[in-house]
Amino acid sequence: MSKSSQLFTQAQAIIPGGVNSPVRAFNGVGGSPLFIQRAEGARIYDVDGNAYIDYVGSWGPMILGHNHPAIKSAVLAAVENGLSFGAPTEIEVIMAQKVQAMVPSMEQIRMVSSGTEATMSAIRLARGYTNRDKILKFEGCYHGHADSLLVKAGSGALTLGQPSSPGIPADFAKHTLTATFNDLASVEALFSEYPEEISCIIVEPVAGNMNCIPPQDGFLQGLRAICDKYNAVLIFDEVMTGFRVATGCAQAHYQVKPDLTTLGKVIGGGMPVGAFGGKLAIMQHIAPTGPVYQAGTLSGNPIAMAAGLAALNEIDKPEVAAQLSASTKQLAEGLKAAAARQNIPLAINYVGGMFGFFFTDQAEITGFEGVFKCDAERFKQFFHLMLAEGVYLAPSAFEAGFLSTAHSSADIEATIVAAERCFAKLA
Ligand code: PMP
Repeated sequence: MSKSSQLFTQAQAIIPGGVNSPVRAFNGVGGSPLFIQRAEGARIYDVDGNAYIDYVGSWGPMILGHNHPAIKSAVLAAVENGLSFGAPTEIEVIMAQKVQAMVPSMEQIRMVSSGTEATMSAIRLARGYTNRDKILKFEGCYHGHADSLLVKAGSGALTLGQPSSPGIPADFAKHTLTATFNDLASVEALFSEYPEEISCIIVEPVAGNMNCIPPQDGFLQGLRAICDKYNAVLIFDEVMTGFRVATGCAQAHYQVKPDLTTLGKVIGGGMPVGAFGGKLAIMQHIAPTGPVYQAGTLSGNPIAMAAGLAALNEIDKPEVAAQLSASTKQLAEGLKAAAARQNIPLAINYVGGMFGFFFTDQAEITGFEGVFKCDAERFKQFFHLMLAEGVYLAPSAFEAGFLSTAHSSADIEATIVAAERCFAKLA
C-alpha cells in the first residue's frame, strides 16, 4: 500500500473525508488522493517519491511555478521580523499600491485572507452601498462558500453534485438570483423582474469553476451596460483570472471595467491572501470610513504580503503574460491535435494561462449545459491514465487547468506525448 493511501486512511478517521477542502479527496475521479511532500517549478512530488508535472498549481496561485526563489526569499526575510502584529505595516501600503498600479479600477483595496472572504465582503459592501438585498450570480460559477454565494455553485459543490448546500436558510438563498453564463437575456429578464432590488452582479469574467468557459463577445460589456442601467454594482471575481488571464487581469484583457474586483490566492503567491477593491465612492462605505463592517485579525499579514508582493513584482514583467499565453496555446493545440490523431472527440477552451478540455463532440462549450453533456466517465479514465504517466491534472471535470512560467516547452511536449498514449488507450 502506498504511503499516500495509508495517510488517506488515517486522515479519514480524523478529518472529514480526509481532506481540508472537498475536491482534494478525488471524489470527482475516484481513488485515493496523492499526499504531497514538496513542489518545485512545474513539478510536485508525493510522499511516495513520485514526481508529476503539475497543472493544478495549488488551484491557481503558482503562476511562476512552485517555490519560486524570489517569493521564498521574501518570505524567509519577512519571518525574521515576526509573524503577525495586528497593526498596520509598511508592506501593506506598498502591496496595495502595487495592486492598484496593476489593476487601476481598484482605486482602494482591502486585504483579507481568502477568496471567500473577498467575495463575501464585496457582496456585503455592494448591498450596503445600494441598500438592496438581492444579488445576481451565474449557475456554475463559484465564489467561495459564503451563504449567499453557495447557490447553484460550481467547483467542489458541482463535483459533489450539491451545487446548493444544506445549512443555508431559504430566507438567505431567496436573495440570490441565478442567471445563465454567456446569456445576457437571462440577466436582463431578472433585472426586469426586480429593477430596484438587485444590488450587484458577481461574475467570474472567465468561468473557471465549471471547467473553463471564456465569455462570448459582448457578454461582459453587456453586464456592464445592465449594471449601469439599473444602478447595480458590477463585481468581477478575479480570484482565478487575476494576473493569469492578463497582467492587468481579465478586465484588462476584455476591456471592461467593473465597479469592484475580488482577488484571491494569486496575490498571496501561495500564502492565504485575498483582496477586494474598486471605486473610491463605493470603498468609502467600508468600516472604519463607512458603516459597512468588515475586519480580519490576520488581514494584511506581513508574511503573506511579502510573498504576494514578491509574486506580483515578478508577474508584472511583460514576458510572464506572453510566456503563459504561449505555453497554454502550445498545450491546448497539442492536446487537440493528439486527440484528433486518436479519433477522440475533444473540445478545448483556453485564455491566458488557464485552459479546459472536454470529452465531447460538441463543437464549442460556451456554458454550463454544454459542460454537463460531456463524457464524465471518459474524463475519470483519462485522469488516472495521465496520473500514471506522471501528469497531475485537476481531479474533477469541473475545474480549469493552470500553467506556470516554470512549465518548459519540453514539459508541455512530454505532457502531449503522454496524453496521446492515454487517448489511444481510451479509443
Ligand atoms: N472565487 C473564485 C472565482 C474561486 O475560484 C475561488 C476558489 N477557487 C473562490 C472565489 C474562493 O476562494 P478561497 O478558496 O480562497 O476561499
